Amino acid sequence: MWKLSNDSQSLRTMIQFSFVLLCLWIGIEFHLFMRWGLTAGGSAYVTRPPGVEGFLPISGLISLKYWIEGGIVNTVHPSGMFILLAILASGLLLKKAFCSWLCPVGTLSESLWMLGEKLFGRNLRINRWIDYPLRSLKYLLLFFFVNAIAQMDVPALRSFIESPYNKMADAKMYLFFANISSFAFWTVIVLVLLSVVVKNFWCRYLCPYGALLGAMSILSPLKITRQQKSCIDCELCTKACPSAIKVHKAVRVWSDECTACYKCVEACPVKNTLDVRLRTDARPVPGWVFGSLVVGVFVAVTGLAMLAGLWQNSMGKEEYLHRFQELNTQAYEHFGSGGTTDASGR
Ligand code: SF4
Ligand code: SF4
Repeated sequence: MWKLSNDSQSLRTMIQFSFVLLCLWIGIEFHLFMRWGLTAGGSAYVTRPPGVEGFLPISGLISLKYWIEGGIVNTVHPSGMFILLAILASGLLLKKAFCSWLCPVGTLSESLWMLGEKLFGRNLRINRWIDYPLRSLKYLLLFFFVNAIAQMDVPALRSFIESPYNKMADAKMYLFFANISSFAFWTVIVLVLLSVVVKNFWCRYLCPYGALLGAMSILSPLKITRQQKSCIDCELCTKACPSAIKVHKAVRVWSDECTACYKCVEACPVKNTLDVRLRTDARPVPGWVFGSLVVGVFVAVTGLAMLAGLWQNSMGKEEYLHRFQELNTQAYEHFGSGGTTDASGR
């Protein structure tokens, strides 16, 4: 415990891998649920884990808009919306901390560039004239999704939420990866290889979630703060930064790429010179407090949804069995291609 409270990187690694284990547990439970559904109830029933909805961010965003404009928490994928809310709350308060402390894709991405560093001695630095336009790609993707959702009025949002496609979106996502096409397979392989040679390739250039959190993180009151008086300009902070931010030149790090990973703080050799603070003259926030806040915000938002009885969706075993049988029909292809409710109103 003493080591964890004094070593932000060990604490961060422990939290990251705990979250990966949680996601693996959700994945195994969902796999068993899918096996039950795909065998039409022929194998043992395992309850569908609501946490799987964390991997349906578009559905979560639509649910959030429906809640704000329609005043209704939908019962199709409610946990997806609360997971999204927890991530947005952490972005608003704690910069892009979700990316470097909790996100399993962020953890995989970090493990891959560390592997690349071990194999090749260093990672590839993309020239800034290419880096800037590439970084804007994730904002374009985010704009595409947010703009499409912004055009939807409450009836259109309800129609999407109640569509057969959305109701089984988690099952469709599972089948996408279980029966992955060769194009999608090779795309994943290319992304993995690029992530080995370039630090956080997916997160830095393509992840719309990262773009959303990056935009929100500008508002975050907590920022990496450098004390100019005691700084000895050794540049160790800049060398340690996986987001290629020139920390040694900043007083407060405003960059949308800062994930509050504390690597620069850990690298600084002068005590109380580089920390996370509310203001330049405020008290530093130790890594263990920051890590507890990241986990705390996530647990608080999702826990409140559980306590309020808004976590589980309303689809029962019987409805799932019925939908699994027609999963390959056109109604489930994608929203808009015949996605209608059936005669029973489901
Ligand atoms: S500035 Fe510091 S906290 Fe932010 S990404 Fe770089 S190393 Fe991590
Ligand atoms: S590591 Fe610390 S002392 Fe060195 S340049 Fe960065 S802030 Fe200044």
